[in-house]
Amino acid sequence: MTQYALLGILMTLLAGVLIGKTWERYKLRDGRWVDRRRLRETPHYMLGLNFLVDNQVDQAIDELTKATSGDTDALEIRMILGNLYRQKGQVGRAISIHQGLLQNPQLTTLEHAYVLLCLGLDFRHSGFVDRALEAFEEVVRLDPQNRYALVNLQKLHEDQQQWAEAASVREQIAVIDGTPHPQNRQILGFLRNEIGRADAAAGDTRSAVAHFRAAIDVDRHTTPAYLNLGDALLQRDEVAAAIEAWERLTTVLPDRAYLAFDRLQRAYARQNAPGRFVDLCQSLIAQQPHEWRARQALAKYLSSVERHSEAFALLLDALAHHPHGLAIHQEVWRTLSALGLDRTLVDRYVELTRDAVFYLDPHVCVRCRYRSTELLWLCPQCHEWNTFVEERMAPALAYAVETMASEP
Ligand SMILES: [Zn+2]
Repeated sequence: MTQYALLGILMTLLAGVLIGKTWERYKLRDGRWVDRRRLRETPHYMLGLNFLVDNQVDQAIDELTKATSGDTDALEIRMILGNLYRQKGQVGRAISIHQGLLQNPQLTTLEHAYVLLCLGLDFRHSGFVDRALEAFEEVVRLDPQNRYALVNLQKLHEDQQQWAEAASVREQIAVIDGTPHPQNRQILGFLRNEIGRADAAAGDTRSAVAHFRAAIDVDRHTTPAYLNLGDALLQRDEVAAAIEAWERLTTVLPDRAYLAFDRLQRAYARQNAPGRFVDLCQSLIAQQPHEWRARQALAKYLSSVERHSEAFALLLDALAHHPHGLAIHQEVWRTLSALGLDRTLVDRYVELTRDAVFYLDPHVCVRCRYRSTELLWLCPQCHEWNTFVEERMAPALAYAVETMASEP
């Protein structure tokens, strides 16, 4: 290759880069070239962005409003301004800004979809469910890959307990995501479980059973589906099948096995096989040495058949793993009374629990920190599925020291 040819290629490349840069900066609108960078050169735009980063919403609104005052073309900034008003709770103002933007006949399809998305969020925020649904559906029509609009559609259906519709939207999201995603499977599992619950409530246990099985098939970690499947089967007098469903929960999700304890204990008794409950608890204890719930459940069962001393030993074992659990202490108090408050046993108990702070494990949402005394599957605050964990106040001693230190 000659030097001239090489130079020619370089010049062509350089020209291409320059044309690209110019195109990026200028945009043809209404037959005139608009400098898209001009806006960014005003101090108000930069200041507005800085305030936004600092989370100073009012100042950001002031500066961004000034930045847009002379330029009717500032679509992105107006869109952001509307969103900031929504965030401040001035949803009426947000709606009027976003609706105003939609009047612009020059919007591209994608721009139209994004403004509509903002408007949908305004409507959702202010409780106009039907208008929000309409806006998000229109976004998806204009931009079928718009995952954010689909997620919002799903949440709106969930808010109205339209589980089948929510599931169908989640399936569309799963297609967009392509490769099988555990989160999609989890959400679909919980939605199928809810469809089953609605069927069961309407008395259609046959369809309910099918949906609970489908929930487990799509994601075998869908804990409530096992519980509900057993309940529905029991309603159909299929006791053995119900036991099988609950036992499967204890195998697949041993951490959640305790949720099926009462059900299994009653079902075994109904089958004249109460000993199976003892076997189940012992096998869970052997599998997970830290498991205190199986010990507590077994102790409760042993107490019910007058085997108080064995129960007491198990409870002390359970306390060693979870010294602050109020439920265990309550069981201990019952057992001690049944044993006639034997002095040496009482002393052992008092010695073991001298530093304990009794509490009921609160359940906390890992996404938004919402607290609940009972285990929930759908968070009422952030509307996410399966986000609750038990919060242990493990450092009870440290807590006591801290409390004492902070006292005058
Ligand atoms: Zn939450």
